[in-house]
Amino acid sequence: MQNIKLASLKAQTKTIIEVGPVKFGQDFVVIAGPCSVESENQTLEIARAVKSSGAHMLRGGAFKPRTSPYNFQGLGLKGLKILEKARETSGLPVVSEVLDTRDVSWMCEYVDLLQIGARNMQNFSLLKEVGKIQTPVLLKRGMYSTISEWLNCAEYILSEGNPHVILCERGIRTFETYTRNTLDLSAVSAMKELTHLPVIVDPTHSTGRTSLILPMSLAAVAAGADGLIVEVHNNPALALSDKDQALTPYQFSELIGRVMNLRAFMENTY
Ligand code: PEP
Ligand code: MN
Repeated sequence: MQNIKLASLKAQTKTIIEVGPVKFGQDFVVIAGPCSVESENQTLEIARAVKSSGAHMLRGGAFKPRTSPYNFQGLGLKGLKILEKARETSGLPVVSEVLDTRDVSWMCEYVDLLQIGARNMQNFSLLKEVGKIQTPVLLKRGMYSTISEWLNCAEYILSEGNPHVILCERGIRTFETYTRNTLDLSAVSAMKELTHLPVIVDPTHSTGRTSLILPMSLAAVAAGADGLIVEVHNNPALALSDKDQALTPYQFSELIGRVMNLRAFMENTY
C-alpha cells in the first residue's frame, strides 16, 4: 500500500505492545468497562466485576464525543481521577479517549492507553500530538474511513516517533439501519496482511445491540483479532450514554468465557 512505510508488515514482523502487564499482539486482550465514567461507585463496581470475570483492562470515557451538545459530555478530570482509583483498586490498566490536543500530555498521567475515537481518526493535529509521546495509542477506525485512510493515520503517529499503536475496528456507516454500524471483519483480516500492528475489535459500537455482541465477538476471534473492547454497565438501563448496547457484568462474564475458549481452541488447532 502506497506511503505506508513504518506501519507496513514489510517494515517488521508482528509488534507486541505492552500496556502495563498486558501484551497486545501476543495475548488475546479483553478490555471492558462503561461507555462513560459516571461516578466513583459505578466505575469501581464495574471494574471489580469485569476484573473478577477475567478482563485484562478497564475502559471508561471521561471526555465524551456526543452527537448532541445537550447530552452528557463526561466528567473530565474528575472522571480520570475515578479511573485512576479504579486502576489502583482493581489492578487493571485503563484506557480513555482523548478529544483535544491540549489534553494529551497531562492525560498520560491518568491512563495507560490513550484512545483516539472514530470521530477523530483523521484529526491530524491530534495524531501528531499523540505521536510525540510514548504512551500507547488505541486508534479506532473512522466510521467513514477506508482501510488505507485508517492505516495512513497510524502512519502519522508512527512517523512522529510513537511506535505503540493498536488499531480498533469499530464498524463503518453503511445503508443498514438495523445495526448501529456495520462491523467490517474483513478489515481485521486485511490489516493482518498489511500491518504488523495489533488489531482489536469493538463489537459494542459496531452493532449497537447487546444481542449481537457475543456472536460478533466470537466472529472477531475467528477473523484473527488480537482482542476486544466491550462496554459493560452495572445498570445498563440507567447508563448516561449508550445504554442500549451495554452488557451487564453477568453477560460479560459469559462472553469472556466463550471468547477465551474459542481463542484457546484456535491456538491449539491452527
Ligand atoms: C468509545 O469507545 O467510547 C467511542 C465513543 O467509540 P467510537 O469512537 O468508536 O464511536
Ligand atoms: Mn459508548
